[in-house]
Amino acid sequence: MRPAVVSLVVVSHSRALAEAAVGLATQMLHGPTRPHVEVAAGLEDGGLGTDAGAVARAVSRADALGGGAGVLVLVDLGSAVLSAEMALELLDPEVAARVRLSPAPLVEGLLAAVVTAAGGADLDTCAREADAGLRAKDEHLRDPRGGVASAPAEASETGATTPPASSLELAVTAEHGLHARPAARLVACAAGRAPRTTLRLRNLTAGRGPVDGLSLSAVATLDAQQGHVLLAEAVGPEAEQLLAELEELALMGFGDLPGPAEPLAEVDVPAPAVSTEPGVAGSGLEAAIGPAVRVESVLETADDHAGSVPEEHQRLADAVAGVRARLGELAEQARRHLGQGEAEVFEAHATLLQDPRITEAAHARIEAGEPAAEAWSAAVRAAAEAFATLADPYQRERGQDVHGVGDRVVRMLLGLEEPESTAHGVLVVDELDPALAISLDASKVQGVLTRNGGTTGHGVLIATARGVPVLTGVGDRADVPDGTVVAFDARSGDLVVDPEPALREAFEEMVSARSRERGRALRHARSPAVTTDGVRVRVKANVSSLAVARLGADLGAEGSGLVRTEAVFAQWRQAPSVDQQVEVYAAMAAVYHPHPVTIRTWDVGGDKPLPFHPVPVEGNPFLGARGLRAFVEDPSLLLDQLQAVCTVAVDHPLAVLFPMITTVQDVRWARELLATAARRAGLSAPPPGLQVGIMVEVPAAALGIAHLAQGLDLVSIGSNDLVQYTLAAERGNPRLAAWSDALDPAVLSLVRSVTDGVPEGVRVGLCGAMAGDPDLAGLLVGLGVQELSASAASVPLVKQRLRTGSTAEFGDLAARALACPDGASVRALVQEAQPTPTVRLSGPRAVGTAR
Ligand code: PEP
Ligand code: MG
Repeated sequence: MRPAVVSLVVVSHSRALAEAAVGLATQMLHGPTRPHVEVAAGLEDGGLGTDAGAVARAVSRADALGGGAGVLVLVDLGSAVLSAEMALELLDPEVAARVRLSPAPLVEGLLAAVVTAAGGADLDTCAREADAGLRAKDEHLRDPRGGVASAPAEASETGATTPPASSLELAVTAEHGLHARPAARLVACAAGRAPRTTLRLRNLTAGRGPVDGLSLSAVATLDAQQGHVLLAEAVGPEAEQLLAELEELALMGFGDLPGPAEPLAEVDVPAPAVSTEPGVAGSGLEAAIGPAVRVESVLETADDHAGSVPEEHQRLADAVAGVRARLGELAEQARRHLGQGEAEVFEAHATLLQDPRITEAAHARIEAGEPAAEAWSAAVRAAAEAFATLADPYQRERGQDVHGVGDRVVRMLLGLEEPESTAHGVLVVDELDPALAISLDASKVQGVLTRNGGTTGHGVLIATARGVPVLTGVGDRADVPDGTVVAFDARSGDLVVDPEPALREAFEEMVSARSRERGRALRHARSPAVTTDGVRVRVKANVSSLAVARLGADLGAEGSGLVRTEAVFAQWRQAPSVDQQVEVYAAMAAVYHPHPVTIRTWDVGGDKPLPFHPVPVEGNPFLGARGLRAFVEDPSLLLDQLQAVCTVAVDHPLAVLFPMITTVQDVRWARELLATAARRAGLSAPPPGLQVGIMVEVPAAALGIAHLAQGLDLVSIGSNDLVQYTLAAERGNPRLAAWSDALDPAVLSLVRSVTDGVPEGVRVGLCGAMAGDPDLAGLLVGLGVQELSASAASVPLVKQRLRTGSTAEFGDLAARALACPDGASVRALVQEAQPTPTVRLSGPRAVGTAR
């Protein structure tokens, strides 16, 4: 049998480059052991670029052929790194755990790794050797007798050292490309840091360069046209500063872009039903077709044979310990792929296994003679039922977590397989618990249908984050024999069983078209969103943690339009101090520099508990002391927060937003608090760079915006709440989904009333879930919204959609939507306007929709 040998995967923009590098590396091998080397390079159409799906497939093959010894992935530049990182999320977590992404230079790293792997070394050793791959060249060039002169672009002033280049991709967005004037600005920018710091440029799209960034004529030879991507490599002590300046310059089209979007005439908006933001990389596909695979809970059917009472106690203790160990592994996977916040979900689940309400009840039943599995099932069902009685829909969905964890213990007791091991197709489950969501193989599972539960369950958020489409709350409509083909579109909520061949074909084509579109969007994620008539629309990310902020920045978000501070600190038992908040907000600001970050003040109450600021129990919390209102009696916590905001805003571009504003008195009070907080921060007034704004979530605020927004810098429409207050349908309540339609023309009219009524110079953004629906991006801009703040995962696709139309087209769409009689007509209108048309799963076989 072939021994397990570490495999290599080469990820490059260019297939020719990757193959040549592999050819060179394999010439170094002389012995019988040859590591397996996969190439994931270039695009399907032969163009330059990388594709996360192709990388994931290459890694899977490499892993299988290497016998599980591990896979080292070497990447060339920029977005190749992003593709490789995304590929990890697409992989079976078990495979992903055996993969390392190497920061080593491609050619040198590959040579070192191939030779080391062929020698039988383990993955860590191969990775270390790859990292050190530059050593020989570096030492040679540092040696004054080395005889190889540094290229001019790499020469430092002293000539003593050649530090590694820092690099950055720059999008060329100006209509006429990098013609003389923008090129001159670029060269002037580089000259500002020369000679100590030098710049080399390549045109990655056209495969031209490198050229010296100080030479105008050389830069001209790059033939950089609109849509091309340049690679800037800076060497020297001010390399990072130079790249930051270039990035800023590039964002402004090297000085050639028109200004921000102007509000347009007639337009209007649609919106998804109940929706939340997973906060981590999402699918953008949201549609699936494949054979149904039912994964049934065994909680109801646990049928066990009792041993002696002590034996049953022991069996239960062993099973609980086994599941706890498994949850530990899953927490680790979640931490690696999704971030600390998601890992904590599993840690919380592990504590459910020790919940005395469950364990004591189960052991008491065993004592009374019940077999372990039955006793445990009964105790778990009783605990889960307690959740079902809770008023808050989000809390109610936590009952799913109890079911999921409980089910795993029963499976272990009965010697049944874990639910994920059967997964291949479209899973049909009662509820999607987080453990199943993180452990299912995203390359085999086309999608998940849940009979119960809404969209806010942890499992749904995790699966969506992993790129697995999910349609929730379909009831018994998915109760079909295993193997029956089912198709669903989570965007429209349609589900169809056993589609006709023609529909099946059309739907499969749509799923792959969405996949291609997402690939394109990811490749251009860092480029600005510019409409076809040259209007730039900023797309920002909604942020609930530092990890999400980083993800948003990686996916091309141009700042954050909404930091949900109550979510950032949701796990804290005690209120963060001013200094602790300064640290967090400054870190977020640094992630997005030079783009601004928008801190929303504590938005507590309603569905948002904050452990360190409990709100009194109210009969109707959504209409109660929510948001700003929660601090009227004691504003000290809010003052601390505003003090931190003022402190950070001295050095960073920052905006502050006040939630749940209804009256001009609210705005006045908020501004007084801000002035007080500035004084507490040792300032005479709020820093001039701090932009001040309000959320528009209440219809009264939308209608009275002309008064409320006087003297403000921005307003941000919180469409999630605006929808619930306009349509009197509690957000998050799946039973009210039919009423909770953000596309209702009444909601669109209110959006329009904000963009029409806002005083001149006040920017209008939108940060509810609508902003993350790519289908709605054009409509919102057509309604006059100037910037969108979306879930981080949606940013690339939202930008991509904005690039497909002109402001006139979007304005026309909005005008027609405003004239529609209902949300369904608006949705149909919006669908017609999409570049990737949605295949509706309607017709005689359709089984209805989930919304
Ligand atoms: C909104 O209401 O749309 C919003 C963005 O705020 P949240 O969802 O946090 O209430
Ligand atoms: Mg809100």
